[in-house]
Amino acid sequence: MNIHEYQAKNILKSYGVRIQEGLVADTPERAVDVAKQLNAETGTEWYVVKAQIHAGGRGKGGGVKLAKNIDQVRELSNQILGMQLVTHQTGPEGKKVHKVLIAEDVYYPGASEPKEYYLSILLDRAKGWNVIMASTEGGMDIEEVAEKTPEKIIKEWIDPKVGLQGFQARKVAFALGLEGKAFKEMVKFISALYKAYVATDSSQFEINPVLKTSDDKILAVDAKVNLDDNALYRHPDLAELRDITEEDELEVEAGEAGLNYVKLDGNVGCMVNGAGLAMATMDIIKLSGGEPANFLDVGGGANAQTVEAGFRIILKDPNVKAILINVFGGIVRCDRVAQGVVEAYKNIGEINVPIIVRLQGTNAEEGARVIEESGLKVTSAIVLKDAAEKVKEALA
Ligand code: GDP
Ligand code: MN
Repeated sequence: MNIHEYQAKNILKSYGVRIQEGLVADTPERAVDVAKQLNAETGTEWYVVKAQIHAGGRGKGGGVKLAKNIDQVRELSNQILGMQLVTHQTGPEGKKVHKVLIAEDVYYPGASEPKEYYLSILLDRAKGWNVIMASTEGGMDIEEVAEKTPEKIIKEWIDPKVGLQGFQARKVAFALGLEGKAFKEMVKFISALYKAYVATDSSQFEINPVLKTSDDKILAVDAKVNLDDNALYRHPDLAELRDITEEDELEVEAGEAGLNYVKLDGNVGCMVNGAGLAMATMDIIKLSGGEPANFLDVGGGANAQTVEAGFRIILKDPNVKAILINVFGGIVRCDRVAQGVVEAYKNIGEINVPIIVRLQGTNAEEGARVIEESGLKVTSAIVLKDAAEKVKEALA
């Protein structure tokens, strides 16, 4: 689960990670109030107005702006709140901004130039260990750094059974070229960050940039936190941070119906029981010349209700030109699924896209018969290759 920057920063702070302080607001008036409060608490006279959406690249997209007085806080908040912010991570339609974070300006001049670093912690699934990734190339697009200058990315793997050792934090800080007070601050920063990562059962932390201020403080200017969905039951307080307005509407609806749905950009909708079979089905769709419009796993107990809910969700996607239902009757019987398909079809009424149903396993023949005898515009296939051919015909 993704959360907003302001929520992520609150979590980090509670574990002793130094952050760029800020307060969230949902109207320009409120933004002015919190800016004044921030001024009273931190003494800052310049502020950064930051759009709160679940996507990176906000700065380049015009969602992060510096305000040099309270009037500018009002103006910029007015401009950013309600805007449809487009970044390289939002897709061309962008995301609507409902909240802004009013943060203290931490790039103030001083003894040295402020310097940006990159720091992330994530799970290396292949190794089963956590890994800290750090770079002196902060504030930049890290994928580009990884591609063009991979030697500039420092990696330190951590055995989760042992935890982060002091020497490892020092090794990273040293590799970033830090010394003196900034070095000590970075070691503290990394240690606290790792503690927060483990305690919250996160699957990814990305702090870009981490800033060395002109007076050698180390703090988090940005924070992307991804919480592990499978561990949320252990963290009811964190589960509450969910913001469904940031999620795809169809994905939310599918989640409520107990379906595992991920929207994609193609033209062939698919409904499958089992994640592995769903992946294989998406491959088949590609081989038949189509592109999957979604991933949809109805789970082991496919019945009329889940099939109908799945249908409705797939049909709401205007790109869908054909639907392929691919069900293996292991626990569930194919004739039951076929009946579910027929009932769902009747309940929904007019469906204008061709539907290909491939049922294999227990009672596959009976299933095919139910489909054929229904008189509906549904094509049945038993062999997967046959199903792929029929998808191809449907798209032609
Ligand atoms: P992102 O673009 O979504 O990754 O958002 P960030 O939180 O990383 O902010 C984007 C950029 O805004 C940063 O890389 C900084 O260069 C700039 N920025 C953030 N906070 C401050 C600040 O306090 N003062 C100044 N001058 N710039 C800031
Ligand atoms: Mn950033």
